[in-house]
Amino acid sequence: MTQGSKTILVTGGAGYIGSHTCKLLAEQGFTPVSYDNLVYGHEHAVKWGPLEIGELSDRARLDAVLEKYKPVAVIHFAAYAFVGESVVEPSKYYNNNIGGTLSLLDAMKDAGIDKIVFSSTCATYGQPETIPITEDTPQAPINPYGHSKLMMEQILRDYDHAYGIRHVALRYFNACGCDRDGEIGEEHDPETHLIPRILMSLTGEIPKLTVFGTDYPTPDGTCIRDYIHVEDLAAGHTAALDYLFKDGASECINLGTGDGFSVKEIIDSVERVTGMEVPREYGDRRPGDPPVLTADISKAKDLLGFELKASDVDNVVATAWAFHQKKTNRRRATTDA
Ligand code: UDP
Repeated sequence: MTQGSKTILVTGGAGYIGSHTCKLLAEQGFTPVSYDNLVYGHEHAVKWGPLEIGELSDRARLDAVLEKYKPVAVIHFAAYAFVGESVVEPSKYYNNNIGGTLSLLDAMKDAGIDKIVFSSTCATYGQPETIPITEDTPQAPINPYGHSKLMMEQILRDYDHAYGIRHVALRYFNACGCDRDGEIGEEHDPETHLIPRILMSLTGEIPKLTVFGTDYPTPDGTCIRDYIHVEDLAAGHTAALDYLFKDGASECINLGTGDGFSVKEIIDSVERVTGMEVPREYGDRRPGDPPVLTADISKAKDLLGFELKASDVDNVVATAWAFHQKKTNRRRATTDA
């Protein structure tokens, strides 16, 4: 059994960003212990440390896992993250995301664990008036998912103040791309994100991509987002952990690239990388989509020494495409068997 100074509890370690972070943690000599209920995570994505299946709300189970592995810090990914669903089922989002986080923080408090890296989101900014977004941009979420994450940031501040649990809350922009070795990747069900949906249109899993809106006030009329490769995101987490180990104070930090790409530019990249034409239709705007969201990442660079290594847009698409084909073949083999 693995225990002690190099063990990190990773809630949601079977998920997309969680599994990539576990791989990097292992490369850096840590033992990541994944705690996941496998509702959206995948058992096959847990390859670099033990998997403990459980609910965050199950205090007895959490306590037993903390007692068994004695992690020195926690990286907390586990949360529901479908924006549209959060609007129709806020109870699910508040109960799981906030209730689960409270249970986790209380378990940490009782076990004497005082460091946590937390998955926050640029959705806490809502529809900001100024771009690029800095950490001081006012936070005004427009859906229960974003609200739940903002509330958790507040809870973390209060738990630091009262109990000395220090945190880094990382506000992600658009996570994308897959592991360079093709071992793990993006496997959401349902899949709502742009790049996987484009790839699904290439493999025939959906007949065509719908581009949501072509009349935005952007150079080509489609929305602009800040797409950060999941490997760079993972590196942001290990850098945040390192910062906390060096006694850094609690912080909220943007993780993006600082660059923006439009939906059309992402489609162009996919066509360049795959040599295929993306079947598409031009549809209405999706409610709640601001025209442009890009990050100011000065704080991540200054405090965490954050560097971008994998987020070149064609590398994002190439790694996503390699994994997508592998996943599609695996699913077809299972269906055919
Ligand atoms: N988008 C699109 N068609 C899709 C999915 C997404 O045009 O099938 C657009 C969406 O309107 C947004 C961008 O792609 O401008 C990124 O959307 P995604 O859902 O990937 O991430 P979000 O920015 O909403 O977190």
